[in-house]
Amino acid sequence: MRLTLTRVDTVKDTDSAYLDPASAADARLRLIDDFGRIATDLRVSVTDRCDLRCTYCMPAEGLDWLDADQQMSFDEITRIVRVMIDLGIRTVRLTGGEPLMRAHLEDLVSSLAMLDLDDISMTTNGTALQRHAASLAAAGLNRVNVSLDSLVASRVQEISRRDVLDKVLAGIAEAKRVGLDPVKINCVLLRNRNDDEVIDFVEFARATGCEVRFIEDMPLGADGSWTRAIVVPGSEVLDRISTVFPLTPRTRGAQPASTYDFADGSPGSVGIISSVTEPFCASCDRLRLTSDGFLRTCLFAHEELDLLTPLRDGCSDNDLAELIIAEVARKGPGHAIGLIEFEQPVRVMSRIGG
Ligand code: SAM
Ligand code: SF4
Repeated sequence: MRLTLTRVDTVKDTDSAYLDPASAADARLRLIDDFGRIATDLRVSVTDRCDLRCTYCMPAEGLDWLDADQQMSFDEITRIVRVMIDLGIRTVRLTGGEPLMRAHLEDLVSSLAMLDLDDISMTTNGTALQRHAASLAAAGLNRVNVSLDSLVASRVQEISRRDVLDKVLAGIAEAKRVGLDPVKINCVLLRNRNDDEVIDFVEFARATGCEVRFIEDMPLGADGSWTRAIVVPGSEVLDRISTVFPLTPRTRGAQPASTYDFADGSPGSVGIISSVTEPFCASCDRLRLTSDGFLRTCLFAHEELDLLTPLRDGCSDNDLAELIIAEVARKGPGHAIGLIEFEQPVRVMSRIGG
């Protein structure tokens, strides 16, 4: 698949994917790249550590974890987020590694909740969610995405290399109970490993009112073993669901997921994230901050900007803002998975923050 983004200064038509920088009348919308995309969403990785070892993400023995002083402190994260809010960031998602491995995460959520944000969410593997959901909600967390690749205990153990299904289900129930709504379930589909569970997951969504999101496996794992053959295309998933439960599409914005309601009015919904077969780079509004303080403009970027060193060296908020604006401006058009020139980035998913 070829990427067709065009730099804004050469755009002649009015394709909505290309925004005219002049229309960014709001002075805060300053995170504009050369293709006219405006960043409003920030994923913040709070740790590179994880208690699971999902086969598509981490090796069984784990990775060389960062030392505590290599990671951003909560104050450093809050300062960078505050500067980025002044430049147009409106939503923040906490991720990792496993964000709940970071002690006192509620303190960070409280600090972020005092800033001018529309939404604070978290992506978690759910193993510690039952314990933390109430305190996170009280601190100001709005929503959670919980990763779960199977509803069969032995398969969860096979894929995540840990026996955690019951804990994750308890975490999902608690998240719903305390109002971390809507709870979204992230399911990475792997050919011949869990793709026979699509309808089971959809029935789970209908029974619980959750949104189940099927994600294509991306070449970001630590062992470099990804092949296209393992990818279950979103279009195939959609066809399989539609024959059993007719779906009604929702209007899609800059979200990575195409979202569908059930035509029969049932609670719950379905999301399809076709990052590999139908990349949505043209409408990408996301930036990422790694736990060691590097700004990444794309999951697949080969370049990233160190913000933590200048911050620790005493740079001003203005200097930080200028660095961020310049880095965002040179965001690339998108990934090239499937093209001969594609190269997996050195930083793996758990160190980027998915
Ligand atoms: N540990 C947390 C979790 O699993 O929810 C947060 C970090 S994890 C990197 C974020 C999301 O990325 C999870 O939903 C996970 O399933 C997904 N993910 C990890 N590796 C992936 C890959 N190679 N392709 C697609 N999704 C992946
Ligand atoms: Fe850990 Fe999430 Fe990676 Fe699984 S996907 S190993 S839970 S960081």
